[in-house]
Amino acid sequence: MLVTLSDPRDAERVTAELQALGLWTEKLVKDSVTRALLVRADSAHVSSERIEAIEGVAAVWSPPRAHPRLDACAGMRVTVAGIEIGEGAPPVLMSGPCSVESPEQIGEAARAVKVAGGRVLRGGAFKPRSSPYSFAGHGTGALAWLHEAGKANGLAVVTEVLSERDVESVAGHADMLQVGSRNMQAFGLLKAVGSAGMPVLLKRGMAATVEEWLLSAEHLLLAGAKGVVFCERGLRSFDPSTRNLLDLGAVALIAHVHRLPVVVDPSHAAGRRDLIAPLSRAALAAGAHGLMVECHPHPEHAKSDGPQALDPGELAQLAAQLEWRPTLKGTDA
Ligand code: PEP
Ligand code: MN
Repeated sequence: MLVTLSDPRDAERVTAELQALGLWTEKLVKDSVTRALLVRADSAHVSSERIEAIEGVAAVWSPPRAHPRLDACAGMRVTVAGIEIGEGAPPVLMSGPCSVESPEQIGEAARAVKVAGGRVLRGGAFKPRSSPYSFAGHGTGALAWLHEAGKANGLAVVTEVLSERDVESVAGHADMLQVGSRNMQAFGLLKAVGSAGMPVLLKRGMAATVEEWLLSAEHLLLAGAKGVVFCERGLRSFDPSTRNLLDLGAVALIAHVHRLPVVVDPSHAAGRRDLIAPLSRAALAAGAHGLMVECHPHPEHAKSDGPQALDPGELAQLAAQLEWRPTLKGTDA
């Protein structure tokens, strides 16, 4: 941003005050007189109003912001059925199976999530699958099973919307709409999902930059979404050792620099259950405001993503390791 000065003789003092705010500055000199200061404000922590308030500053000129609605959410939390997610709130555990397979399966999974101290039940009714011959979910019918399982266990529900035409029915059965990695830049879908006026879980595209991710959130907010929670789920990389490459740098950036709600999905990142616990610890250490972990009552029989699903005992063990249950005891209704 450009800071113009009322009087060039104030240049040193204004520079010192800007630097005391942690800002990088450069003097713009013309005819040997400093008439303006260039300020690199890549920190969301200092507003232009704060700079304008410095004595001797005539005006602050900012380039148009790429995502003004999102920037205005810095430091704010997203509320999902009364559960707060984001800065300063206790970390939230979202869990459930990859796919909703039957009323019994999702019911058992929901009980396991509840016992582990989870607050949000996940499960796909509509599944994006690479192969058209793979199980793609039970569709609309599974939404009712998911909704019932959440209600019976006092859990909020998040589930993916794959198509614009399903937004209304999914919105009628969920507390939060999920946009999957493959659809992060499906702009028509983002518009339709945003216009439902609900909180959205926005998974990062597997080859999307952080800026593209932020811009997709702006699309959702512009369309009317009631808050966006980012979900890092790993990037496509050169190395097949893990299913994806978990980008914790991006998580730290979203949480600490942009100060926006972000959760980590270690399940799709790792693709294997034995790495869920260490990646979960790392995610929380990096600043994640919660985790989305796949679990299944019988992972060996799962119709999708079985190798990365925890069984109920493993989920409870993970939650205990992360000291989630005692945390939630203090906050649970
Ligand atoms: C999911 O969460 O079920 C899913 C399909 O994940 P992603 O979009 O991250 O691949
Ligand atoms: Mn899955």
